[in-house]
Amino acid sequence: MKNATILSIALLPLALATAVPRSEKVDYTGYQGLRITLPENATGIEEQIEDIAAHILNPGQATHIDAVVAADKIDAIKALAPEVEVLVQDVGAAIAEEGDIVSAYAVPSESWFTAYHSYADHIQFLRDLQAGYPSNSEIITTGTSVQGRTLTGIHIWGSGGKGSKPAVLFHGTVHAREWITTMSTEYNAWQLLTKYNTDSAIKALVDKFDFYIIPIVNPDGFVYSQTTDRMWRKNRQTVGSSSCVGRDNNRNWSYKWEVTGGASTNPCSETYKGLAAGDAPENRGMMAHVNSLRDARGIRLYIDFHSYGQYILWPYGYDCNLVVPEDRALNALASAGQSAIRGVSGTSYTVGNSCRHLYATTGSGPDYVYGVGGAAYSYTIELRDKGNYGFILPASQIQPTVRETWAGVVAMLQRT
Ligand SMILES: [Zn+2]
Repeated sequence: MKNATILSIALLPLALATAVPRSEKVDYTGYQGLRITLPENATGIEEQIEDIAAHILNPGQATHIDAVVAADKIDAIKALAPEVEVLVQDVGAAIAEEGDIVSAYAVPSESWFTAYHSYADHIQFLRDLQAGYPSNSEIITTGTSVQGRTLTGIHIWGSGGKGSKPAVLFHGTVHAREWITTMSTEYNAWQLLTKYNTDSAIKALVDKFDFYIIPIVNPDGFVYSQTTDRMWRKNRQTVGSSSCVGRDNNRNWSYKWEVTGGASTNPCSETYKGLAAGDAPENRGMMAHVNSLRDARGIRLYIDFHSYGQYILWPYGYDCNLVVPEDRALNALASAGQSAIRGVSGTSYTVGNSCRHLYATTGSGPDYVYGVGGAAYSYTIELRDKGNYGFILPASQIQPTVRETWAGVVAMLQRT
């Protein structure tokens, strides 16, 4: 009998293991959600943490790892990386109170919009966001930069299915130093996906359009603005014999590029147009994408996000005397955006034709998407502020800026 008892106890774990259905929920009672700062120059730590933790919540982060860790494994984590912040005291209790904690983790939270971030983290943000909504979004790439970075964005669709509706296209960070535009375009994507199931107004928009949002279309310049020169604007393309670097990606599109007066032919200028129309690889990629959207379901709305100045501007930029037949409609939509922004925060925007209200531009994105891409509506939006901080907008203004801008964008979309 004794032997038989030992045998049955020995078999018990196996019997239990085979009896547990695969779909049963893991009980996270007592597990903690931790933010683990990675020690500098400590190679291999990430992999060791991954082995100990139950789940890594933000794989690929350079500076810290968010992870779910069992209570009896926390000391082992702290032995590897002592700087640990408890984000969730009891993951099981949080799941019980607030629903699916895994999805809450998988989707970046609104706190993302309280600080500026590295290029790698921006890409990870998009991946994390998309991973939370795999059935109505996908990561897209629209070309490659001079230094080989992919222009990475997110495509969001609604109940009609992928690619079934006219396109809405948002570009951010064409100018490297305009960091608030990265945040604002990401916030738009975040709103569209995270509010789709709970906000009928947003659902209506997502069901009406296919959104293509590319927060950083000048990745080399953006990285350079973070590593080397905060005030950098252009891409990082060399120009033959010149020691100056960079084409202005917003003067390189193949529409009215050859017109004089709206760009510079001096490689050292901030608005250097390049040697030929579309000779910046970022622009070739963006143009191919715009053309493909035009040829598929057409483009309803394009917004190129810039800073600063608080303007909503429409084509054309290349000729200040040209008033397009749709000028009134473009004005009406811009005015709706202007009113909505003012309604949120009192922030005042100026609306108008881009050439007459700001300055002449040739080879610009909005002109191309309007003139070649056939967009019904095409705009440049220059975000906060009016120059007190300029490009160096304090992080405390990110959230107010992206929120008011989103309200403006929604108002425009609802009239598109
Ligand atoms: Zn700009």
